[in-house]
Amino acid sequence: MSRSSRLLARAKEVIPGGVNSPVRAFKAVGGDPPFIARGEGSEMIDVDGHRYIDLIASWGPLILGHANTAVLGATMAAASRGSSFGAPTEGEVEMAEEICSRVASVDKVRLCSSGTEATMHAMRLARGFTGRDLVIKFEGCYHGAHDAMLVKAGSGVATFSDGKATTEPGSPGVPTDVAKNTLVAPYNDAQAVEDLLKAHDGKVAAVMLEPVAGNMGCIAPAPGYLDALRALCTKHGALLIFDEVMTGFRLARGGAQELFGVQADLTCMGKVVGGGYPLAAFGGRVDIMDRLSPVGPVYQGGTLSGNPVAVAAGLSTLRQLDNAAYDRLEQVGAGIEKGLASAVAYHGCSFKRVGSMFTIFFRDTAPTRFDEVQQCDLDAFGRFFRAALSGGVYMPPSQYEAAFLNTAMTDAQVNKVIDGLQSALVAAMQD
Ligand code: PMP
Repeated sequence: MSRSSRLLARAKEVIPGGVNSPVRAFKAVGGDPPFIARGEGSEMIDVDGHRYIDLIASWGPLILGHANTAVLGATMAAASRGSSFGAPTEGEVEMAEEICSRVASVDKVRLCSSGTEATMHAMRLARGFTGRDLVIKFEGCYHGAHDAMLVKAGSGVATFSDGKATTEPGSPGVPTDVAKNTLVAPYNDAQAVEDLLKAHDGKVAAVMLEPVAGNMGCIAPAPGYLDALRALCTKHGALLIFDEVMTGFRLARGGAQELFGVQADLTCMGKVVGGGYPLAAFGGRVDIMDRLSPVGPVYQGGTLSGNPVAVAAGLSTLRQLDNAAYDRLEQVGAGIEKGLASAVAYHGCSFKRVGSMFTIFFRDTAPTRFDEVQQCDLDAFGRFFRAALSGGVYMPPSQYEAAFLNTAMTDAQVNKVIDGLQSALVAAMQD
């Protein structure tokens, strides 16, 4: 028995499913997750000594790879000065200035500790600001594990309901009284949003979406889609909230908003902003942000918000993300896409990439919305995943997830990914 198997057996006795977040389990793809001992650059090494090229990157944050030297130095220095104070620190100001200078639509920002908190607080703020209760979200978008957003959600919610995450609410325990305030539209369909805004005229506080969806596999916004949502929100007095927890600082210096030239009213950030530590943020227009307590009446807070060690890791990460870093990410992504193109087409699959996020879909054309992802061959994906893992490439264990690249990847590792995934495609088609 491997050390990973023994650890999983022990874990299952004391942790539900043996994991502290459902997406880490291999329930959808078969097999058991290896327990990770350490990471080095683009690789993870498990407790049995197996090495994997890591295409999960802790589900997005590790854009510089594992144990980045500067991040390590910054966190050790911060930790040695004290772990948390519950009082303001200089680092928080520097972090807020860095975020505001990068994201054009963000005048002011508030730090918190997880993406879930960021979207939850942004939604409350939108409701408090507009005096309206309804919010619109999109099928297959995931905004964290809080009640209002667990409706037709992607990521683990979709994965563990065999892709049928269409019941409302999306989890037992979410009161129907809460879920009824969440309206759902198909992604990439502006008309559907217009219809909802007209049907509930004057009642919708916000439209929240992932500007590039990464929680139903990687799905790009159709040309003009984000602009159309921007115009609709302005017309109907609803706030446009971009959940850039995945895309923020990953797709460009200023996130997806910079890439697509669209400005949100509020933006949620997480993952990369904390460089692998628990840090997230939400920010936006000054007139909206100044409705937050203690300036305004909308309450929001957190004991560890703006934690000094997490802020140090995040600042060090963001300061390394210069134009050269984004060029490298694009080069790595384009190299993998090009290297896999003919194999993907040969096996009747499709490949969708936006910058350093990508998904191989087991469907002949890349999906543009959730119901199209549901048409993918999930059994073939499972065979593909298992073959890739045994070949040393660790993909996210679900068709409903995106793979993440990092700047530490060498050209040799890019080639290893291409070879490994080509072989895995062959294996997926054999059964
Ligand atoms: N929003 C998006 C777009 C996400 O991808 C995630 C996490 N995958 C979240 C919110 C929630 O973030 P967290 O897991 O840090 O609470």
